Amino acid sequence: MEQELTKKEIRFKGIPASPGIVIGPVYHFRKHEPLIFVRAIADDEVEKEIERLSTARARSQKELQKVFEFAEQKLGEEQCKIFEAQKMILEDNVLFDAVFSRIRTEKKNAEHLMKDEIEKYSRLMAASTDEYARERVNDVQDVCNRVLRNLEEQKLISKIDGSNVIVSHNLAAADALIFSRNDVLGYVTELGGATSHMALLARALKIPAVVGVHQIDAMVQAEDIIIVDGFNGIVVLNPSKETLKHFEKKRLEYERFEETLAPLRDQPAETLDGHRVQLAANVELEQELEFIKMQGADGIGLYRTESLLLGKEVFPSEQEQYEQYRRIAESLYPKQAVIRTFDIGGDKFMAQSVRENNPFLGWRGIRIMLDKPQIFLDQLRAILRASSLKNLLVMFPMISSIKEVKLAKQLVDQAKDDLRAQKIPFDEHLRLGAMIEVPAAAIIADHLAREVSFLSIGTNDLIQYLLAVDRGNDIVSDLFQEFHPAVIRFLRRIIERGSQGHVWVGMCGQMASDPLATILLVGLGLDEFSVAPAVLPEIKKIIRSIHFTEAKHVAESVLEMKSEDEIKGFLKRLMKNKFPDIPIG
Ligand code: PEP
Ligand code: MG
Repeated sequence: MEQELTKKEIRFKGIPASPGIVIGPVYHFRKHEPLIFVRAIADDEVEKEIERLSTARARSQKELQKVFEFAEQKLGEEQCKIFEAQKMILEDNVLFDAVFSRIRTEKKNAEHLMKDEIEKYSRLMAASTDEYARERVNDVQDVCNRVLRNLEEQKLISKIDGSNVIVSHNLAAADALIFSRNDVLGYVTELGGATSHMALLARALKIPAVVGVHQIDAMVQAEDIIIVDGFNGIVVLNPSKETLKHFEKKRLEYERFEETLAPLRDQPAETLDGHRVQLAANVELEQELEFIKMQGADGIGLYRTESLLLGKEVFPSEQEQYEQYRRIAESLYPKQAVIRTFDIGGDKFMAQSVRENNPFLGWRGIRIMLDKPQIFLDQLRAILRASSLKNLLVMFPMISSIKEVKLAKQLVDQAKDDLRAQKIPFDEHLRLGAMIEVPAAAIIADHLAREVSFLSIGTNDLIQYLLAVDRGNDIVSDLFQEFHPAVIRFLRRIIERGSQGHVWVGMCGQMASDPLATILLVGLGLDEFSVAPAVLPEIKKIIRSIHFTEAKHVAESVLEMKSEDEIKGFLKRLMKNKFPDIPIG
């Protein structure tokens, strides 16, 4: 340890992908990426070459089958689908027949031709503007590398000794899963976004992870000590004694705090003077249901249905969707779940690739669903069929006008008529809500409130559109300010207009999960918080330790302030004073 402490400390900022703080030695994983040379083969080598590729294919199939079974056992059926897509590539006879036939006609080695064919696939997908399609490129390349490694008869690295943090340029979902059979403390990668398959897996496995950490691969050495703060996306290599002490303290405080939070599970999110708010959770995967119940959530405030599209080429059928929504409704009953209709486009999955110069200002969310009514109707019928317990609500993303809400409501009515005709029961009073993510929707929140039963503020998008700062662009990430005075004024306006219209107003964007914002949001009159499951008990603790009157004063003071620095400084002092044990980023 002494030796490591003499190395220079390097701090990195990445994207938080899975919560938790861990400290430990690095396992530097360099994926075997074979150097491929073109080699001419003699006529009498052709059959041997074909045989070699068939053997490598069979070995790769066997390996992937193991990965698949392990995923099934550890994560359940839904998550395995990522690996099913990879298995399908190996089963693709069109692909392999093309390579076999090229070996015969071109008389070149299998490695070269296999890579060449796979690259044709990858180029098509890499050209896509959507993140999920690009993520599939990783899957395809991962399969190709697996076959190439087996052609070289190299063994798969899957065992590592001791407890380590895996650091890698890129980590395929299959690698992350296989490594998790060892004692893995955390994952750090240079590539990847918060919605990559690897990030989803890390969250499902409850292993802290930070992705998008530029330059770390070149800086890291085996056995370096590393700190991974999966709450704030911070990674520190070779920490100084002070840094180590600071994060060790944060980690212990967090652990201790987690223990003291357990008794809060069955308590309501209510202030000391009796003001009750709903404290729900954001959910992406069915596997999270048990966890959010354990955390004491009042239900689900945002179920991102896009996870149903993971690893899929086509939209899931009405029946498939129904089964999933039904499981959620039954598992949570009598608590409620807000199901958000597919929010695709922008940076999210698209079934067909559409090239757009400004995808965030383009065809996304409700705009796509209204243009593709059959897909929308399938989803609406599936939700309605699952709604007979009366604990499901539906929410539309990316609303920017009354017209869109009216059209969406017409389609809900049409879906209801379809079910009535088939005598299928559903919740006649299914409540509908609009997300407030576009400044125009915020401005007409009073009109929207007359059309729906609730509004839910999506700050991730609302802030990017209000401040003209791309939410995924790390060059301008400093300008993405939750505490910008314009954001706070906007929030007050939305909440006021919503309550004047007698609908509840919630927030499911990331800001609701920031403990620094909790007192302010309570004071602004927010009715519902939908937060990341990991931080839910902390947020509950804050709400249960304050007075509503005091929170309203805080909000009034903040509304007078002129800069983000001033607002954050004020709230940090307040939190440090009242909640010294809550880690603030
Ligand atoms: C948001 O925009 O704040 C939100 C909750 O939606 P998403 O992050 O899925 O776009
Ligand atoms: Mg959004």
